[in-house]
Amino acid sequence: MLSVYRVIYNLSNIVSRYALHKQTAHCLSELTSRLSTMDVHPFLQPIFCSRDEKIIGCEVLLRLRENKEYISPVGFIHEIEHTELMNKITCELLDKISNSLFPCSFLLPEGFYFSFNLSVFQVRDSFVINSIVNFSKLFSGKANLVIEIVERNFLEFDEGTIRNMDALMHSGIRFAIDDFCAGASSLKYIEYNGFSTIKIDRTLTVTFEGRLAYSRVIMAIVSLAKSSNLTVIAEGVEDEEQKNLLKQAGICALQGYYLENPMELSIFKQKYLNWS
Ligand code: C2E
Ligand code: CA
Ligand code: CA
Repeated sequence: MLSVYRVIYNLSNIVSRYALHKQTAHCLSELTSRLSTMDVHPFLQPIFCSRDEKIIGCEVLLRLRENKEYISPVGFIHEIEHTELMNKITCELLDKISNSLFPCSFLLPEGFYFSFNLSVFQVRDSFVINSIVNFSKLFSGKANLVIEIVERNFLEFDEGTIRNMDALMHSGIRFAIDDFCAGASSLKYIEYNGFSTIKIDRTLTVTFEGRLAYSRVIMAIVSLAKSSNLTVIAEGVEDEEQKNLLKQAGICALQGYYLENPMELSIFKQKYLNWS
């Protein structure tokens, strides 16, 4: 009798899991079809050298536009990261930056880079890879390209991903580990030579009572980065005290609202390149 109950229990479990799966798939397709009607806009947030506070690069951040309002992807990005729509969006971001900034790229400071966010899934997509290579060729000698690999739950690289990353690395593209220390498993990826940069997640760069709340962790990251020849960027810099403490801790580059907000391309061109 007990085993009959067990069979019924297992069956109902499978049925409800299947229903949940169907429902999730339905929600995802509703979400992607709604998002695909919106306009894609790249915003740029400058990244500054901590020594002289000059601009050294920019992170490209997706905004979708609906009813004249810009929407950040923070609320849905994890849902769509593995979808075709995300690949299309990334290619559109690359195109829009090329079209808008290539004509004034001779004004970019020496060594300047554009940093794009990509999930591991996307590094497997040939369409995305081609767009990245084309972007990098177009800006060759004028700006470099960095791919921030986003770590949502955990990073897992299969052989195909590593092969694509190697190929991109050999054509001069660099990789950054994004949101470092926000997840559980990023530490071991320091061993992979393709990574040139660590971006410390903003939850770790906060201050408390006049000091860095995670100063020992930050010191450890800085020393690990030095011995591995990596650059460290601190995210989420929101005030002067935090900025100074991060500088003192040996952080190379800074990004955050205190230094600059993400902005539209036209504003970036006016403000940083004097081009209208
Ligand atoms: P992220 O890659 O960690 O990007 C930095 C986020 O922190 C941005 O949020 C930026 O607006 C915000 N930020 C910058 N400075 C500060 C600060 O001082 N304080 C605080 N509290 N926040 C700050 P945003 O633009 O809303 O993007 C959220 C996340 O969405 C990004 O986090 C990234 O993971 C993802 N994302 C954005 N664009 C793309 C994209 O094109 N592709 C992919 N795969 N993910 C993207
Ligand atoms: Ca990022
Ligand atoms: Ca980040």
